[in-house]
Amino acid sequence: MTSEALLSRLRDLLGDRVSTGAAVRDHHSRGESHHAAVAPDAVVFPASTAEVQAIVAACAEHRCPMTPFGAGSSLEGHVIPVHGGVSIDLTRMNRVLRLSVDDLDVTVEAGVTRKQLDRHLQSTGLMFPLDPGADATIGGMAATRASGTTAVRYGTMREAVLGLTVVTADGRAIRTGTRARKSSAGYDLTRLMVGAEGTLGVITEVTLRLHGRPEAVAAATCWFDSMEGAVASVILIVQLGIPVARVELLDEVMMDATNRHSRLNRPVAPTLFFEFHGLSDANVDEQARAVGEIVADQGGHDFERAASPEARAALWQARHDVYYAALALRPGSRGWTTDVCVPISKLAECITETQRDVAGSRLIGPLVGHVGDGNFHVMMPVNPDQPEDIAEAHRVTDRLVERALAMGGTCTGEHGVGLGKMKFLEAEHGAAALEVMRAIKQALDPHNLMNPGKILPPTRPPIPDLRPPCGKIRAMRTTSVFATARRT
Ligand SMILES: Cc1cc2nc3c(=O)[nH]c(=O)nc-3n(C[C@H](O)[C@H](O)[C@H](O)COP(=O)(O)OP(=O)(O)OC[C@H]3O[C@@H](n4cnc5c(N)ncnc54)[C@H](O)[C@@H]3O)c2cc1C
Repeated sequence: MTSEALLSRLRDLLGDRVSTGAAVRDHHSRGESHHAAVAPDAVVFPASTAEVQAIVAACAEHRCPMTPFGAGSSLEGHVIPVHGGVSIDLTRMNRVLRLSVDDLDVTVEAGVTRKQLDRHLQSTGLMFPLDPGADATIGGMAATRASGTTAVRYGTMREAVLGLTVVTADGRAIRTGTRARKSSAGYDLTRLMVGAEGTLGVITEVTLRLHGRPEAVAAATCWFDSMEGAVASVILIVQLGIPVARVELLDEVMMDATNRHSRLNRPVAPTLFFEFHGLSDANVDEQARAVGEIVADQGGHDFERAASPEARAALWQARHDVYYAALALRPGSRGWTTDVCVPISKLAECITETQRDVAGSRLIGPLVGHVGDGNFHVMMPVNPDQPEDIAEAHRVTDRLVERALAMGGTCTGEHGVGLGKMKFLEAEHGAAALEVMRAIKQALDPHNLMNPGKILPPTRPPIPDLRPPCGKIRAMRTTSVFATARRT
């Protein structure tokens, strides 16, 4: 069989939901990160699990690499089809399949986005609280084990996903998990697939745990003379068990960027953003009062509640826009984002050492943190065409990850491995654990076709032979290997 034969089979299956057009391939050639783009040879848009099965079976037969694609908002080059092949875009699988208000759970197709789900739940009194900022798909969030600003209270995708439907590399559809809140039945395949970044299969359906929508919500901010005071406040808040729904830290460089980008006029100083959820106004008032006392003790200034829901929304919009505020510091740049997470007692030390390191480098590095979890990002706007920028960003990241690992932390708290964090996996997990991961990959994807080149660093020889029948592989592809098939 030849690549023309595969393309023709995909067209038989999906009709015009197969694209080899340059614009569509270009859209699927990268996520939001700085990594070099590589276009897939073709993009397919399945509308059901059965269609995904047929696509995967056809690609497997032709030994053609496949890369699942959600909203493309990931930050480590996850969706870049480094070995070409077919990009499987799940966005047309966007139906909410089932909702149980009594059980607080919902089953959705993988392409449903977080905001779409929120709109669907609006009138039910329930919510899906995980918020990675971007309007990511639920499938992409599961695949990256995402979290975000609300993880401090509601957990991450690891806790939110009850079960999945996954199409494995040979085209079988398996169900993992049930709707039960707990289970001891066998290996936990749900947790294996959550965070697998499309390297073990394509997630087509996700059953999620929901939460009641809070009756009362309040937001507040507060600034500090020093980073230490801000972090010490957060440690006390977490240790005392005050159930803050969000607590986010922006350093002075990020506050400056945010003031400019979001037209705020706040002190250029380390600043904490809080959100409180409760059953009543009295309940959130109590949380806010307790937090206000703690921050005052730690040298916090102007602990201010947002005066209205609109003011609260504006505050959190500004927080969500920090990535773009950081990029705006260097027009035309792309984002290089670090993502370490450390035990919270080490957070102040890790942040202040990192700030010193960034200040001594040639790059700007505004910092934002989901500090209640010990997770923070340095967002360095880089020019990908400038080797000095890239080399410096590598050096800063290497030192930061080394620092975090020495403190008992991880190289990635929520963004995932993709291409960017592969080189740190052995240092984090050890060679033996990496061998076990490779054995799992080999067992589930023996021909290395599911998002190849991600998560597991290459062994020697580094690149599997994925040449024809799928197509000749080049680092930066400009024409589709299917172009000839299109013309004939
Ligand atoms: C401004 C901004 C802020 C962000 N903030 C956060 C944050 O606070 N927390 C956080 O966790 N992330 C954050 N992110 C990163 C990003 O939003 C998450 O990684 C998100 O989970 C990716 O979802 P997606 O639908 O865009 O997936 P994509 O980027 O399309 O894909 C991500 C990975 O998942 C795989 N994948 C996608 N769909 C499937 C599927 N159905 N089955 C199997 N594999 C699949 C892909 O192959 C790829 O490896 C942010 C991104 C941006 C741009």
